[in-house]
Amino acid sequence: MTSITETITEGKGKRLYATENPDEAVVYYKDEAIAFHGLKRGRIIGKGEINNRICEYLFTLLKQQGVPNHFLRRLDERSSLVKRVDIIPVVVKVRNIVAGSLARRTGYAAGTHLRNTVIEYCLKDSELDDPLVNLTHITAMGLATADEIGLMEQVAVRVNGILTEVLREISIELIDFKLEFGRFHGEVLLSDEISPDTCRFWDASTHEPLDIDRFRLDLGDVADAYQDVLHRLTGYVYKNTEEET
Ligand code: UDP
Repeated sequence: MTSITETITEGKGKRLYATENPDEAVVYYKDEAIAFHGLKRGRIIGKGEINNRICEYLFTLLKQQGVPNHFLRRLDERSSLVKRVDIIPVVVKVRNIVAGSLARRTGYAAGTHLRNTVIEYCLKDSELDDPLVNLTHITAMGLATADEIGLMEQVAVRVNGILTEVLREISIELIDFKLEFGRFHGEVLLSDEISPDTCRFWDASTHEPLDIDRFRLDLGDVADAYQDVLHRLTGYVYKNTEEET
């Protein structure tokens, strides 16, 4: 039995609870969706359950492929048990195709293929909208050591390779994604979440987004896209038991 003691943090898509075991935490995935620094808020019915299952699937797969991560096991429809890490305040973004902030920042059209994988580092600070930082900022400001950031980059490249392949087989293009890492008893572990909330997934034939961009850009059929990703990945059919509001 896992018993929850207190809330550690609450973010855009998840709540994190402490447990009686100081080395473990419970992640609870919410249906709530937030974009544009909280200016746009809504609810994607079933998102919590779907992201919980997508994370279970992807973190298990990554572990099998030799990528250590914080995931321990799914507890119920909306929550999972994870190792309680200290999050490193550097967000790692991996890009294969131009989209989002890279398109805005450079003027390159969304959809442009990049000649090599782009890795970006951002300071994890939502008040400042996670500003870009480089390796010298990271070490100068003591956000992470050179060894830690080297390992994070290696893992990010490896995760990109594994996910790109798995998604290609189900006709999804991996455009970009963000990763977070945590310290756990001297080890650096891939942590947080890998889901349509944190990745850009495009259908390989229509190039339609199957991710949070459907919500951000009011493209409609948001919950259907999340269900589609889960179904293609795992074969699991999500059943909505609630009325759409
Ligand atoms: N991303 C995320 N959380 C954030 C910001 C970005 O999960 O707070 C993901 C986003 O979904 C995309 C990737 O990181 O898959 C790159 O995002 P980008 O820098 O283009 O920013 P965005 O356009 O999402 O604001």
